[in-house]
Amino acid sequence: MVCHKCDVTLCINPDHLFVGTAKDNMQDMISKGRAAPQDGSNNGASKIDRRQAQQIMGMIQMGMNNTEIAEHFPLTHSQISSIRLGKSWKEAAYEIGFCHEAANDETTPVSKQTLLDRHLK
Ligand SMILES: [Zn+2]
Repeated sequence: MVCHKCDVTLCINPDHLFVGTAKDNMQDMISKGRAAPQDGSNNGASKIDRRQAQQIMGMIQMGMNNTEIAEHFPLTHSQISSIRLGKSWKEAAYEIGFCHEAANDETTPVSKQTLLDRHLK
């Protein structure tokens, strides 16, 4: 039985979990939660499942920022931003009626120069 120190029921951060009985249970859950390859070939959205994506949307609606939310999931704050802006998990968002924020929000401080640099590399 895995218990959470935080209130995020689908949290996979091992630092936020403590084991009620068997240590193996926690490691099993963590390995499942991180089943996706970590080699960077994924866009990040596939590292979580639909329920986790929808919980993230709920946390966004509660006013948590990207960095706070990213603590609980195997995603970076910029990947949380993609969910916030509707670039990831669109269908999951429609299911729960989650409204995306405008793409010019301050949560994506990507300058034109940064975008240019990425294309040049
Ligand atoms: Zn947590």
